[in-house]
Amino acid sequence: MNTVFRTLHLASRLLTSAFLLAAFSVAAQQGGGRRDYSQVEITNTPVAGNIYLLEGSGGNIGVSAGPDGLLIVDTQFLPLAEKIDAALAKLGSGELRYVVNTHVHGDHTGGNPYFGKKAKIIAHSNLQKRLTAKTNAVPAELPVITYEQGLTLKFNGEDVRLIGFTPGHTDGDTAVYFTKANVIQLGDQFVNGRFPYVDVVNGGDVKGLVKNLDSVLTWLPADAKVIPGHGKVSTTAELKLFRDTIAETVAFVEKGIAEGKTAEQIKTAAPLEKYRSWSAGAQNAPRWFDAVYNSLTKK
Ligand SMILES: [Zn+2]
Repeated sequence: MNTVFRTLHLASRLLTSAFLLAAFSVAAQQGGGRRDYSQVEITNTPVAGNIYLLEGSGGNIGVSAGPDGLLIVDTQFLPLAEKIDAALAKLGSGELRYVVNTHVHGDHTGGNPYFGKKAKIIAHSNLQKRLTAKTNAVPAELPVITYEQGLTLKFNGEDVRLIGFTPGHTDGDTAVYFTKANVIQLGDQFVNGRFPYVDVVNGGDVKGLVKNLDSVLTWLPADAKVIPGHGKVSTTAELKLFRDTIAETVAFVEKGIAEGKTAEQIKTAAPLEKYRSWSAGAQNAPRWFDAVYNSLTKK
């Protein structure tokens, strides 16, 4: 009895720490932690054609700068908005016309209340619903143009294609493809070389994520540049490797569930060592297998 009790006690302690870790990771990804934004610098990297990548703290910001003005994809955190604005001004392309949100998380939409006063925010209709449901949402942070499957803007001499995905990282993800520059920004549906976070609470789904990546890879030119949710500009080969790793781990967990295994048994059987390099901070291989299990077994 004692052993059983001790095991249960240990299991509950482990569960508690896993929960705390998960909560911490979500907070870190969404910017819930305390940060000193005054130390953050916004850097600008030319990607291709009219497209630039601004980095600071939070999600990547893709920028189209040209004769029609500026379009940005994602807005990082509100305390950084003026710095981001100053970095945009340096591009010398005049007014900000459009803001696209790739998904609802605060490290990608936090600057909306500032930029929404200057430009029209465009997003998937599910993202709009989730932001509207926020008790303290202010009008300027809400998208004024929504869509579900796809939307094309003629902007700065190219077609800018917005592709709606649901479910994936959340239930309202958008990918943005700049057709002439041949650059795609995938939001948090892609992080290079590490396991992603899939937000089941906000409608995310691991199998949906694999399906979305598969659909992009059927048409995306091999020489396209890929802007991930966070981190440096990547290649389509890196995107393919990410897709394959996610698909492989999802299939492993799915097979285990079909065989009646518990999350713990699946993890024990998993080739965790193989995925060591895919761990980043709290999001390590065991946690990823748990996340996949939770997504596949959610009601
Ligand atoms: Zn995210």
